[in-house]
Amino acid sequence: MLRDTWAEISLNRIRENMLSIRRSLPYSVKLMAVVKANGYGHGDLESAKAAVLAGADYLAVAYLEEALRLRDAGMKLPILLLTPIRPDQVPLALKYGLTLTVTSAKWFAEMRDYKPYASGGKLRVHVKMDTGLGRIGIRKKEEWDELALWLHAEDVEVDGFYTHFATAGQADTAFLEQQAARFAQMKEWGRASGLVIRHYHCAGSAAALRFPHLAMDMVRIGAAMYGFYPEKLVHSIKLEPALSLHSRLIQVKKLAKGEYLGYDNSYRAEEDEWIGTVPIGYADGWSQRMQGTEVLVEGQRAPIVGKICMDQLMIKLPGPLAEGTLVTLIGAQGSQRITFAELAAHIGSVSQEVSTSLGVRIARTYIDMEEEYRTWDKQIWPNEINRAVI
Ligand SMILES: *Cc1c(COP(=O)(O)O)cnc(C)c1O
Repeated sequence: MLRDTWAEISLNRIRENMLSIRRSLPYSVKLMAVVKANGYGHGDLESAKAAVLAGADYLAVAYLEEALRLRDAGMKLPILLLTPIRPDQVPLALKYGLTLTVTSAKWFAEMRDYKPYASGGKLRVHVKMDTGLGRIGIRKKEEWDELALWLHAEDVEVDGFYTHFATAGQADTAFLEQQAARFAQMKEWGRASGLVIRHYHCAGSAAALRFPHLAMDMVRIGAAMYGFYPEKLVHSIKLEPALSLHSRLIQVKKLAKGEYLGYDNSYRAEEDEWIGTVPIGYADGWSQRMQGTEVLVEGQRAPIVGKICMDQLMIKLPGPLAEGTLVTLIGAQGSQRITFAELAAHIGSVSQEVSTSLGVRIARTYIDMEEEYRTWDKQIWPNEINRAVI
């Protein structure tokens, strides 16, 4: 590692979080591990590995490239693409044994033009229903009826039928209940169609943890796997974040009272102050919205001062610390802790925006499960823990 800014990731934490979630649900409920966006910034292959070791049955990603990476690494679990692909990409998806999200009859009709699909192989799909998020999916009965005609084809397997909640992390459950009721109604459309539909699912992390009765046949766990969940609303289970972020002071200087610091003179020393420069900036995902937050040095909180630059930021030190002193941007030092939740609250977002923003320049180091990692071999994907294989 050449650079003094790195993320430390505990795969064992990810595995433990998944095991806790698994234990909190009936055994028959299948576990889909969502490893999109580079495993929410934690590493996609590594996170998938940890999830598999915790007994995940499915993997999910947003985009085709993400799924190809997993397959190329030898991953043999079913992989659901949560975002629809273009009809002309179906042959590629089939070659890689991927499970597709479908949202319209029009897509099916167009996709049928692609010869490699017509020449053999089954197309595994999950139908996405829009019960109120307004993002993707079928809203009306007519749309479903039209799509269902295509789904009866012999070479199509309807492996799933699902929806996604808009407010699962909110204290007020009224809208979620409305969405759940709408989904119950839609499930009846599915049943009445005469299609064999293997899995009905609606719950992501927050819903799965808060409302186990909504787990149905499968839960899609992303955030909670990495330790992100609405802690104030979930008391039955305790999950831990798996990632901490560190750097080192690269320069320490004294600023006299009244002197400026940062682009646009964005900070002026209120007194004689010790300032430290930390080699992380907005190009690493430490956006200017983070101005006003703190980092840890020597077990104490130190505020970021001035505008955050592309590659560096400045902090106000408690005293003349040595260059090379450890700086913790996420995680603990002594009794102090900077959490994802704290940073997310500051920028008006969620923990997973902070973790997925951590850029490619930040090295990821894995601090445990080395043995399991060493034996990570194409032959052991998936291992005997798993019940579902393609
Ligand atoms: C990202 C995503 C998930 C995972 O949600 P978390 O809240 O991170 O667990 C589940 N379902 C869909 C459709 C998603 O896009």
